[in-house]
Amino acid sequence: MFSLIKLPYALDALEPVISAKTLEFHHGKHLQAYVDNLNKLLPGSGLEGLSLEEIIVKSSLPAATGNLKAIFNNAGQVLNHEMYFLQFAPAGVMPGPTGHLLAQIEKQWGSLDDFKADFEAKGVSLFGSGWVWLQADANGELSIGQYANADNPVAHGLKPILTFDVWEHAYYLDYQNRRAAQLKALWDIVDWKVVEERY
Ligand code: MN
Repeated sequence: MFSLIKLPYALDALEPVISAKTLEFHHGKHLQAYVDNLNKLLPGSGLEGLSLEEIIVKSSLPAATGNLKAIFNNAGQVLNHEMYFLQFAPAGVMPGPTGHLLAQIEKQWGSLDDFKADFEAKGVSLFGSGWVWLQADANGELSIGQYANADNPVAHGLKPILTFDVWEHAYYLDYQNRRAAQLKALWDIVDWKVVEERY
């Protein structure tokens, strides 16, 4: 059985980037629903007792249908949201990456600002609902992935590092249709210490 993660900050701690109202619905209603759905779908599936990552890999076959497809969607959304919420902290806690991650970003993008611009552009150009991810391969090479719906790097053998949610439920209360404004603002609350540990 999976349970809803506890947020490591108060509901209003990420304002004005993410309002308490958005967080209350996004964490308390949307993520809770994905957790509940996954717990209902798992019994009898043969995937009980596995980790989220294992469930995602085993249910991610392109040919998956029915319950397996539903399990993939809900397990993917639980993992995506857990990594999303846990990578944030009140603004100014850690303004940028350091060390190995920063060096790799600068090597591949030239500068942190160029990386951020590329990440935002890929989030804006992702059609429909989904997630933009910074991901790493087995050699530590970074890339930015655009994933539809519940898909994520784990399903493609890559390591998930940082993610922005581009489903409208993530930003509509605060930004309405201005997805680009939300993506630009999110950098202020990224806890780069958490992100670096994932890399
Ligand atoms: Mn979401």
